[in-house]
Amino acid sequence: MNRAKESTTMNIELIEDNPYLLLTPGPLSTSKRVKAAMLKDWCTWDDDYNRIVQDIRARLVQLATKETSLYSSVLMQGSGSFCVEAVVGSVIPQNGKILVMANGAYGQRMAHMAKMLNIPLVLLDNGEVAPPDLNQLEIILQEDANITHVAVVHCETTTGMLNPIEAVGRIAKKYKKTYIVDAMSSFGGIPMDMAELQIDYLISSANKCIQGVPGFGFVIAKIDELTKCAGWARSHSLDLFDQWDKMEHYNGKWRFTSPTHVVRAFYEALKELADEGGVIARYNRYKTSQRALVKGMKMLGFETLLPEQLQSPIITSFLYPESEAFQFQTLYEKLKRRGFVIYPGKITNANTFRIGNIGEVQVDDMIRLVDAIQQEKFWT
Ligand SMILES: *Cc1c(COP(=O)(O)O)cnc(C)c1O
Repeated sequence: MNRAKESTTMNIELIEDNPYLLLTPGPLSTSKRVKAAMLKDWCTWDDDYNRIVQDIRARLVQLATKETSLYSSVLMQGSGSFCVEAVVGSVIPQNGKILVMANGAYGQRMAHMAKMLNIPLVLLDNGEVAPPDLNQLEIILQEDANITHVAVVHCETTTGMLNPIEAVGRIAKKYKKTYIVDAMSSFGGIPMDMAELQIDYLISSANKCIQGVPGFGFVIAKIDELTKCAGWARSHSLDLFDQWDKMEHYNGKWRFTSPTHVVRAFYEALKELADEGGVIARYNRYKTSQRALVKGMKMLGFETLLPEQLQSPIITSFLYPESEAFQFQTLYEKLKRRGFVIYPGKITNANTFRIGNIGEVQVDDMIRLVDAIQQEKFWT
């Protein structure tokens, strides 16, 4: 028996169960298999490690599109936001201008990054509960020829809204703009093809739908676009082109220390995703869980913030019940004691809390959760 395999099997048995399930949008509950993959040290200069990095990079491109020869991937240290900032700061030339469509905290964060980097910005903010205004987008692009890039968030994790990235891409490309999508909380959990969606830069991270542990993010880029960006970056450590150039031409080497254990765990998570049946199987699991959650919560009297047609299968915002006796913190503590960690709301105009269903979470967990909430229904 292969020695590495043997030790992994042993280690899985030694890992204790988590005291609670994370029903959060990342970091999320990971499998024992993914956690066990971290129990080994790696040399960043060694082929064994660099081969893993290269395999990860290839697998990411394969997950992102059928047109694999036109795209390449680059991994970047830090949380997902570091990758968003690497893209915003590296792919817009000195005379460029970005239009950010925002309907939540993550769209706003992208705009904030552009401002801090002194990149000319048009912010199209539709509020937190409305989908992006496509007519407005087209009008702005007709009127402002200086705009070079259009950016949007796919699943706006603030509310759980799924934004229409295909329609935004069609308009962006009609006006020949470079198209950036923050698919942080959807990539790997919702089927998509970058080539069909006309996305030039797609951003995600290790600890969302691929179900790895936190520590790095990644960008999948159209090669023709990325290779234009040499020397454009406004930051050295977040220079996307430089990071890609090194990885691409030095067999998977990172420029600076990489999160080796996290990378190895991510590799395991990618294999686990394939074993589950790929993105479509995972999407179906998420959808089934999310529907069971909403159905159960509605039976308990809760309402969702968003109508069903805007809702993603990733995370759901629920409105606080009318009762004065309801307190999120109390519900949170009670559920935590029963083995579930839920998530506070993040929007400004309504009292909400959120329940995520990505990660090593099954439909049965959602049914158990609803049951636990029913038993703790202290506000009625
Ligand atoms: C998680 C997430 C990010 C990145 O957040 P980090 O805390 O930096 O990992 C960015 N955009 C969206 C839509 C997200 O869900």
